[in-house]
Amino acid sequence: MNPNAAPPRVIIAHCESYDAARIREIVRDGLRELGLVPRGRTLVKPNLVAAGDMFPHAHTRPELIDGLLRALQDVGADTMSELAVGERCGITIPTRYAFKHSGVDAVLAGLPGVKRYLFEEVPQVEIRYTHEKRLRDYVFVPEPVAKADFFVNAPKFKAHPWTTVTFSMKNYIGIQDDRHRLIDHDHRLNEKVADLQYVIQPQFICIDAIVAGEGRMLTPTPFDMKLIVMGNNQVAFDAVCCAIAGVDPHTVDHIRLAAERGFGTLDLSKIVITGDVTLEKAKERAKGFKVGLIRVEKYFEGSSITAYAGPPPQSEKTDYCWGGCPGAIEEAIEMLRTYDDQCDKKMPRMHIVFGAYDGPIDAKPGEKVVFIGDCATWKGKLGDELVSIESLYKDRSTKDPYNAVHDDLYLKMSKVNRKIRAARNEPHVRFEGCPVSVAEQLFALVILGKAKNPYVDPGEAVRFNEAYMGWRATTAMKRLMGERYQRHGACSRGEAMPDVRRADGE
Ligand code: SF4
Repeated sequence: MNPNAAPPRVIIAHCESYDAARIREIVRDGLRELGLVPRGRTLVKPNLVAAGDMFPHAHTRPELIDGLLRALQDVGADTMSELAVGERCGITIPTRYAFKHSGVDAVLAGLPGVKRYLFEEVPQVEIRYTHEKRLRDYVFVPEPVAKADFFVNAPKFKAHPWTTVTFSMKNYIGIQDDRHRLIDHDHRLNEKVADLQYVIQPQFICIDAIVAGEGRMLTPTPFDMKLIVMGNNQVAFDAVCCAIAGVDPHTVDHIRLAAERGFGTLDLSKIVITGDVTLEKAKERAKGFKVGLIRVEKYFEGSSITAYAGPPPQSEKTDYCWGGCPGAIEEAIEMLRTYDDQCDKKMPRMHIVFGAYDGPIDAKPGEKVVFIGDCATWKGKLGDELVSIESLYKDRSTKDPYNAVHDDLYLKMSKVNRKIRAARNEPHVRFEGCPVSVAEQLFALVILGKAKNPYVDPGEAVRFNEAYMGWRATTAMKRLMGERYQRHGACSRGEAMPDVRRADGE
C-alpha cells in the first residue's frame, strides 16, 4: 500500500427498511462523503446468486439496487458514459431468471438507459495474472467487468458455508461465468477469490445489511440489522463487516490473503469509520449472527444422512475441502428442506463420503453409500462386496480455462439420473467432478431420497424454461451475428485484451 495514501473509509448507516427513496439519500450522502464521482463505464455488481420464491434473502434486494442506481445518477449524471448492472447468478440457473425473479428487471424498467449485463451472455476476456502464489496464469471474466472504469460492488451481508461469511470480496465469485467459476472452486477457493482481486477493485462498495442472511448463503435465515455499509476499499470494508458479525477477519482466508497482498488493511485503527451507527452499536445489532463453516459430518448429525469427510489430495496441504463438494451438499439439503418440509422424514438412511476417507462406513443392507467428488477414495466391505474407490483427482494445472465447457442444468440432471440408474443394484454410487456442484448433489438427493425436486416445480419449470430458452436463443443469435464469444464451450485466444487496472497496492 502507498504509505501516503489516505486511510480507507467505511460508513455505517442506519436504514429502517427497504425504502428505495431513503436508500437513494443514504447512498448519495455516502458517495459525497467519500468524495466519489462515478465516471465512464460504471458497472454495479450485486449479489443475485439465487432469486425467486425459495430465495427471498439470498440476494441484494431490488430496492437497494434501485436506490443505489439513482444515487449514482444523482452524483455522476455528467461523468458516466454508461451505467449498468451485471451479474452471473449461481446453481446453474440462467442469470436472466435471477434478474427477473429478484425484481431487478422491474427496477431497470423504471430506469431507462441503465443497461443489464448477463455475464454468461457476453464475451469473456482473458486476464493475465503475474502475482506470486497465484493458482494459475490467466482467468476469464466477462468483458463489461474488465472494461469498467468505475466498479461498484453491491453485495449482500450473509453467512457462507465455504468461507464463513460473504461480504464484498467473496461477491467476486459472480464475476465469472459458471465454466470459469467452477475452476478452483475447491479447497483452494479462498485463494481463487484472493486472485480475482487482481482483475479489478471497486471504487465504491455498498452492502445490503438491512436484512442480512444468517447460517447459509442460498436459503439463509433473515436477520434484521437495518444497516447499509459503504466504503472505498474492499479489504478494509470486509474487515469492518467481519467486526460487525463478530468474526476475526484473519480467520477468513481470502480476506487475510488480500490484506497480505497489499489490497488493504485489516487493522480497524487504520480505517476511518463514520456514519450514524457506531461500530459498537452495529455489533450489538448483529449479536448472535450465525456464520457458516460447519464440517459436513456435524451438519448432518441427527438426520438420516451420515456424512464422512477425509482430506482432499495431500499434495494440496489441507485437511478438509472447505470450498468444494461438502459445502455444496449443505446448500443442496437446505434447498430441499425449504422446498419440502417433509424432506428429512422421507429421506432414507444413506451415507455420503467426501475426500480420502479411511474410516469405517456403518452401512446396513439396503443403505446406499454415495461417494462424491474426484478426490474420494475408500477401501472396505459394503455388505459382502469388497469396494475400492480410487482417486480420479486431476491436478489443477491440467484444467485450462480455454477448454472449460459449459454444463447446463438439463445435462446435469440427466447425468445424475443415468449414474443412479446404472448403480441401482449396487451398494454404492460415485459422482465425479471437482467440484460436484450444488445442483448435481441436489438432484442426487432428490432421486435417492425421493424428495420433491424444486427445479421441476410446476410453477418454476415454466419460468425456468422461459429464462433457459431466452439464454440459449440469445447466445445462438450472437454467434450467428459473429460476436466473439465462446465457441463450442471454449473461449478463443486472441480476444482483445482489456486495459486491466491493477490495484495491488503498487
Ligand atoms: S473433488 Fe470435491 S471434495 Fe475433492 S477437492 Fe474437488 S471439490 Fe474438493
